[in-house]
Amino acid sequence: MKKIKRLLIANRGEIVCRIVATCRATGIETVTVFAEDDRDLPHARIGDYSVLLDGKNLSETYLNIEKMIAAAKASGADAIHPGYGFLSENARFSEAVTKAGLIFVGPPAKVIALMGDKSESRILCKKIGVSVVPGYEGDAKSLVKEAEKIGYPVLIKAAAGGGGKGMRIAQNAKELAAALDSARVEAKSAFGDDRLLLEKYLTKPRHIEVQVFSDTHGNHLHLFERECSIQRRYQKIVEESPSPQLPEAVRKRMTDAAIKITSHIGYVGAGTVEFIMDSSGEFYFLEMNTRLQVEHPVTEMVTGLDLVQWQIEVAQGGKLPLAQKDVKRSGNAIEVRLYAEDAERGFLPAPGTLGLFTLPHLPQVRCENGYTSGNIISANYDPMIAKLAVWGATREEAINRLLNALSQTQISGVVNNRAFLMRVLDHEAFRAGKTSTDFIPKHKDALMAPKRSNDDIASLTAAYLLFNATASETSQAEHSAWNNPKLAGMR
Ligand code: ADP
Repeated sequence: MKKIKRLLIANRGEIVCRIVATCRATGIETVTVFAEDDRDLPHARIGDYSVLLDGKNLSETYLNIEKMIAAAKASGADAIHPGYGFLSENARFSEAVTKAGLIFVGPPAKVIALMGDKSESRILCKKIGVSVVPGYEGDAKSLVKEAEKIGYPVLIKAAAGGGGKGMRIAQNAKELAAALDSARVEAKSAFGDDRLLLEKYLTKPRHIEVQVFSDTHGNHLHLFERECSIQRRYQKIVEESPSPQLPEAVRKRMTDAAIKITSHIGYVGAGTVEFIMDSSGEFYFLEMNTRLQVEHPVTEMVTGLDLVQWQIEVAQGGKLPLAQKDVKRSGNAIEVRLYAEDAERGFLPAPGTLGLFTLPHLPQVRCENGYTSGNIISANYDPMIAKLAVWGATREEAINRLLNALSQTQISGVVNNRAFLMRVLDHEAFRAGKTSTDFIPKHKDALMAPKRSNDDIASLTAAYLLFNATASETSQAEHSAWNNPKLAGMR
């Protein structure tokens, strides 16, 4: 077994800091990489060594396979961890790293290619008896005819897709033609591959996924499920383990299905098998992610395991540290993703410069961040600022702890979803575990920032005037609300 001595992390932001933490704890040296516009970010300086990726756009920096391998060679690294996103599910990258004589901390190219394709993985699941959402993944010419058979509404997906790109809902045949055209264009530009597939669009489903792990010795196990139904733009913002209100028998069938897939394909490393569950409790395979997931901390908090350490162990050729029967789960963990985005404007990214940014130091609260005060949240990258994950003996304790942690988090300078997340967690339906992917549109009125009524504005203005009157009598005129264009506009 070849031990990794120096690991290059081919990524940016919080996940780099997360992986460095495990390396420090296990005596592995780290190399981090950064693009010029990330020079001031924590990940650029947190490793033992750092390498500048010269270039202006992503294809010259974080998506450049040759540069990543050259950086690893130049810095004496013997392994590469791809993190999530970027090159993490690129089969060519896995292959190139291995060909360069380095260890890839992730699965071999063959399984990445197979499971990274939504059509191929659907075909495989059907073959081995794992249910997939009723749909069609055949040739492009038959898509319209097949949609009629499936029944509307249908969801169009890019076979090579991810991140919600290329996804379109069509309510009827008329919408389908236009939706297929635009999905095709988006898929081609995002993935260089315009193959599409159709799925029956399920209403009010739940997104539940199983964390799996496999080694090169043929051992496969799961680390239970995570529920990630609270989403906007088809992307998760709240994740938890266990899934609330999941009958034990269904959990067993779901984890069995996940293991059936990993054992059949001879999977290696960390992965996530995603399922979608309809309102009747039937679940279907959605896709498999062949990497560490953003939301892995909730699994770590309920199992007490370090998933990055396991990834390294497996990549070195070691056996999984535990047998399935020894994997235990206790309590509840919930994670939220803090984004620079505007909930009131369709969750549009809101890049900008972070002003004051402070995270709480509280028991059972884990903060994962890739930015500090003064850093720029750039429009060139994903606008996630940080993740906060908490553990509680009960789900209620976890929710309250997370609300407290969020209330002690300060973010200024950029529009962000901190208050929105607090309203989600504190909503009675969330507290009752009534989570489904339509949660946000369904409870929109309660979740959006309260609109100020005329009465509120009047009392705010009165308070402002009173403050100025007592604070400084002499300067009252210049501080008066009536001289302040913003407040004056409220008259
Ligand atoms: P991506 O890989 O682009 O993230 P996924 O296939 O993982 O796409 O789906 C992302 C989200 O889209 C799911 O978590 C779910 O909320 C929604 N979704 C996907 N497939 C369906 C479906 N057939 N019906 C309803 N919602 C779906």
